[in-house]
Amino acid sequence: MLRKLIDSPWTYFALASVLVILAILSQIQTVGEDAPEGTVADLESLSDRDDLNVIFILIDTLRADRLGAYGYERNTSPNLDALAARGIRFASAESQSSWTKASMASLWASRYPERTGVTRSDDAISQEALLPAEILNEAGYQTAGIWRNGWVANNFGFGQGFDLYYKPTPNRNPGARRGRSPSEFQLGGSDLDITESALEFMTNHKNDRFFLYLHYMDVHQYVSSDQSPSWGTSFSDNYDRSIFWTDQNIGLLMEKLFELELLSHTMIVIASDHGEGFFEHGGEGHARSLYKEVQHVPLIIVPPIRLAEGVVVEESVANIDIWPTVLDMMGLPPVPDAEGRSLLPLILEGSKEGVDAEALRNRSLFAQLDKNWGKRTKGPDPLISMVDGSYRYIFLESVPEATEVYDRSTDPLEKKNIVRDNSVPIAELQAKVKNFLDAGSPVWGDAPRVDVDEMMQAQLRALGYAFTMTNPEEVQRRKKAAEEVQQNQKWD
Ligand SMILES: [Zn+2]
Repeated sequence: MLRKLIDSPWTYFALASVLVILAILSQIQTVGEDAPEGTVADLESLSDRDDLNVIFILIDTLRADRLGAYGYERNTSPNLDALAARGIRFASAESQSSWTKASMASLWASRYPERTGVTRSDDAISQEALLPAEILNEAGYQTAGIWRNGWVANNFGFGQGFDLYYKPTPNRNPGARRGRSPSEFQLGGSDLDITESALEFMTNHKNDRFFLYLHYMDVHQYVSSDQSPSWGTSFSDNYDRSIFWTDQNIGLLMEKLFELELLSHTMIVIASDHGEGFFEHGGEGHARSLYKEVQHVPLIIVPPIRLAEGVVVEESVANIDIWPTVLDMMGLPPVPDAEGRSLLPLILEGSKEGVDAEALRNRSLFAQLDKNWGKRTKGPDPLISMVDGSYRYIFLESVPEATEVYDRSTDPLEKKNIVRDNSVPIAELQAKVKNFLDAGSPVWGDAPRVDVDEMMQAQLRALGYAFTMTNPEEVQRRKKAAEEVQQNQKWD
């Protein structure tokens, strides 16, 4: 009988047919699935669903105006641009500080630095804070945070609510390192380590409800792959290359989400903690000032419904609004006592009658930076930035006469200080800042202090944070180095 089967050509036809059918079936399984198309009005129904994942992608040090979706002429961000085109893009989003830890504490807690108390290098978020990861975890989500910036490490209180919270093992070196930091202080590995960890997490948890926070760091470090386009040789050009490289990482995430058929039930949020200066106001880098180049950040929400035309919200919004918005869209409990607001009315208005977004217009939005954040022997030296209508008002408490005002509508790069211009309602602006400062101290009492030991300091130096960065000689040295690189370095 067996002999007969082996000799019969029909056996082979049958086997071949089975193989063909299997091949077709397996292809169907690996084709993947995109999110369904829908309208803005459909976004309201998301709050009724109980099958949504959330992926929060924080790209450290990403200024908005270097992305195609925000008008940049270089093709730095094809994947982010495509996501913005099918989702919701906030054209004018402000970070709450120009330094990672203060900015991220505010973003998660939906409170200004004045109210989180996280303003100095050894401050941590209080364990009394109820953070979004805790709310999601409580609601049954598997929660994971994967990061490469030591300022958001667990010892500063950022791991609250995460089942998994870790810095991946540095494995992947994409090839090009053209950062600002001296080579001995380079952070090992690359953001591909984060992406690969994320792909593994998504594959393992594709049948669970999950919340995944990815904190990308290569833009901060000006790291890019050798395959990234070369636009020139300055630090600013290298910064653009690193955006392209990070955008490719986002592309890998999107491919995997498509392949795992997760796009129809995953909400993706893309944000940044601050931008980066390239001598627009006499300094380079971040964590030293609060002008537009370090304050204007991208904010893109990609819902699990493909919006045919995409939505652009022009109104000024803040990073403290991110979690009130996402939790509202998903029908989850809010961050308690948030200073940020849900932006859903701004998204929905125009899609149907009766949406009132008036309360979200012309809010005063604030950012804060303790200029002595890294100088442990010195007391606080608070700098405040307020966006109010078309004005940016910058106030250094220790030198009130140095107040600056810019009209963002006629001077988008904030170059011309009009504080002495009679048309500026200076008393009114100053009163708003005073009200903001008087509105209360940290809600949980003073921020807990963490002993930032030598090892931690070395790790933070690896990010390029020297603890004496406000030194004008150092700024001059870096400026000169930047110019030299521009003139001399050729690698293509
Ligand atoms: Zn940062």
